[in-house]
Amino acid sequence: MKVAIPQVGSVERKDLKHIKENIQKILPNTKSIIIEGVMMLPQGAYTSLRKQYNSSLLLNTIREYPKKTRADMILGITAADLYASQLNFVFGEAELAGKAAVISLRRLKPEVYNEPKNQTLFLERAVKEAVHEIGHVIGLPHCSDPSCVMSFSNDIGAVDEKKRQFCTKCSGRLSVLIL
Ligand code: ZN
Ligand code: ZN
Repeated sequence: MKVAIPQVGSVERKDLKHIKENIQKILPNTKSIIIEGVMMLPQGAYTSLRKQYNSSLLLNTIREYPKKTRADMILGITAADLYASQLNFVFGEAELAGKAAVISLRRLKPEVYNEPKNQTLFLERAVKEAVHEIGHVIGLPHCSDPSCVMSFSNDIGAVDEKKRQFCTKCSGRLSVLIL
């Protein structure tokens, strides 16, 4: 399974590389590639009132970009703040059993919570959210085990509570889905 990763807006290239390499460690049946260049954030997805991007609209753009990746899925990585309908913010969004996903690094940074900068913690959170959204694209729903990477996180505490791995139940489902 090939995962194409576009950089969406300004993101540190080395962060993308770290996330890519760790996706492959957790999901050994995947091959990730970082797409050259930078995808511009679509201004049509921006809401100036909230100073956030609508994740569903952003997902529409990511799905089409670029058209010829021949990848099984596209995971956009952005530093822009995202929201979805009914939610003040989201860490990411994915099409369940679809093709596209997006994660936002914005609220994964400890500094956002007035905590000291911590690159290791930040990247660990980013890997978890990337694997979570890829899990959705492959077809996994949310998991009720708070330590499973597929558990839903609506705050940063929940992100920290879960591991980067799938629980036994989700691993079992995954092995069937990516056969
Ligand atoms: Zn989810
Ligand atoms: Zn699980």
